[in-house]
Order: sequence, then structure tokens, then C-alpha cells
Amino acid sequence: MKKVYLDNAATTAIRPEVISEMAMVMQQEFGNPSSTHSFGRSSKSILELSRKTIAKQLHAAAQEIIFTSCGTESNNWILRSAIRDLKVQRIISSKIEHHAVLHTLEELQKEFALAVDYVKIKRDGSVDMTHLSELLSQNKPTLVSLMHVNNETGNVLDLDKTARICKQYGAYFHTDAVQSVGKTEIDLQQIPIDFLSASAHKFHGPKGVGFAFVRKGIVLQPMIFGGEQEKGLRAGTEAIHNIAGMAKALKLSYQHLETERNIITELKSYLIEQIGIHFPGYKINGCGEGFYNIANILLPFDEQKTIMILFNLDMKGIAVSRGSACQSGSVKPSHVLAEILDESDIRKPSLRISLSHYNTKDEIDYLIESLKTV
Ligand code: PLP
Repeated sequence: MKKVYLDNAATTAIRPEVISEMAMVMQQEFGNPSSTHSFGRSSKSILELSRKTIAKQLHAAAQEIIFTSCGTESNNWILRSAIRDLKVQRIISSKIEHHAVLHTLEELQKEFALAVDYVKIKRDGSVDMTHLSELLSQNKPTLVSLMHVNNETGNVLDLDKTARICKQYGAYFHTDAVQSVGKTEIDLQQIPIDFLSASAHKFHGPKGVGFAFVRKGIVLQPMIFGGEQEKGLRAGTEAIHNIAGMAKALKLSYQHLETERNIITELKSYLIEQIGIHFPGYKINGCGEGFYNIANILLPFDEQKTIMILFNLDMKGIAVSRGSACQSGSVKPSHVLAEILDESDIRKPSLRISLSHYNTKDEIDYLIESLKTV
């Protein structure tokens, strides 16, 4: 059966060069980076070179990159540490964050005397910056945690503007950049972000590895205790093959960024154009522009068809998503769309189509033809 993967916000295919790199490390570099003998030293050098490579792509210093197991872990660690180690009394976030932030905040509120304020989200899915300033003007030790690119709608936060507002009010700023790292330029030397979370499997790297950026000078304590790995900040023997794969994937993503962004941007325009021709009455959920690889589209179909669409597309070998990855298959409306759509639209079928440079116009034609038969 023909297989078409249009769910690149959920995860991405690993680049062949990354697989080769990882296989080489698994075959030849099995030493424990904490061992002092030559096997260990060799692994340690791969670890540190990977850190340098990753830091360079984002204009950060190597010591500001801490390896974790995923974006979720990075988010958990940063949010928890901000309260515990930086004595933050309030976190400002939004209702459209990923559950890796939202559910963490709920748990932290049970453990700590933590105030959580949610900044208003406009109808187009963007953050109300005036409200953010208003919230920040109430003087309290605060961390702002707002995602860079929304994983469901593709809405983009102006990182520079947000970081500067936070600095103006003396608040820390964390951004969940899981959907944007490797897909757009981020200059951490220019933008005064304090913390950033990233995950390799979203930029054509392996699963089970990510990193946290922690600005130099900010002292956090570990969330996982044990050995001295990652300068004692994240105990546990490092997954060298994953880390080397992540570094390779990020380097390649930035090397090919311009070409691949052009391919994807053109594919997205084609997709929207075709949807417009064949399904007039469609709507784009979120801000019309959105990030170049994500389109969240409300289809002018009967409500009854909502649950059937994904199933029908899956039967034809097409992978797309309804809401975020972890919610596809569930009948609960996505918490992000629930924030920005009105009661009647929320019941209508919306699809998140997320593209990569591996996709083609033929695949989009196949999607359109398949949707016509639903
Ligand atoms: N944050 C965002 C915005 C995401 O899209 C995801 C994955 O869907 C995560 C966090 C979680 O990342 P990971 O799968 O690496 O834990």
C-alpha cells in the first residue's frame, strides 16, 4: 500500500546520514564516557564534540547545553528548577502550551506554593503581548514559559520581543522550542532567552534524546540524581549514539535549512491552494501565516465525519493528525483548538498536516483525492 507521511510535527524520519553516524558510534564507540581509559576518553570526546556542534548551531556556548532524554524532560527540569533553585513564585504560561509544560505546571502547583497565570490568547492563536506586560508588571519573582512554535497550529511567538519584555520586568524566560529548533535560525547570543528546550526526533534525529539550553550564570540543581554526568546536572550514562545522532541531525538541518525551507514552504502553499480549490469553505485554524511546515485546517465537512476522517486516511496509508500527536485517536477536542475556536467549529473536522522536505506534490494530490472520497 502507498504510504504518505504528513505528520512531521509528531516526529520526523531520521536522515540516512544520521543513521550511519549512529551505527558507527554504536559499533566503534561503546566506551562509557565516564571511564578514564582510552575507550571512555574516545566516547567522552564524541560527547563534547556533539555539545560544541549543537551549541554552534544556536550561537550558544557548549557549557550552556545539557543533554536530556527528550523535550519533555527538559521542560520538566527547567520548570521545577526555576521554582526550587531560583525561587520563582509565579510562572506565566499559556493554555496552548504542550502538555509537557501544562501537566508539569499542574503537578508543580500541588508540590509548591506556586502561582500560575495564563496569558490571554487571541482568536488567531497568538499571545496577547499587552496582557503579558500587564501580568509582568505585578512585581513577583517570575518565570515566563511560552512555546516558540505551536505544535498544533504552527503559530509563531516573537522570541526576541517576548524575551525583551521579560528582561524589562526582570523575569526569567523559558521557551519550549521543540518544534522550531533545526527548522529556523535561533541566535541565543542575540536573544536574551534564559532557558530553551529541544528534542532530536523533531529535526530528523533519533528519539529518546534532547537538550536544555541554560544561560551561563544561572545555577540549577539536578532533577535526576546519581553520577557526575553533565557536570552533575543530569545523572545517568549518556546515550552517546543518540547524542552524536542529534548533533549530526542538527548540523545537517542548519546546513540545508534554506533549501529545505523553500521546498516545504512551496509544498504548504500548494496544499492550501488545492484545499481551496477542492474544499471551498475551509478555514485555517490559528494565524493564517503560521510556521512553514504546519497547516491546521478546518474542513467544511459534516460533524459526523470528524472521527471517520483520520481512520479513512489511515486506511489509505496517509498519516496526518487531529490536534497534537498524543491526542489523535481520542475524541476529546484538542486543548489548543478549544482555546481558539468557537463551539460550532470545534466539533467540525480539523486536520493538522505537517510537512518535511521528504514530501512531494504527488503526495498532496493523493491526500486531496483521498479526502474527496471521505
Ligand atoms: N513540546 C512540544 C511543542 C512538542 O511538540 C513536543 C512533542 O510533541 C514536546 C514538547 C515533547 O517532546 P518529546 O517528545 O521530545 O518529549
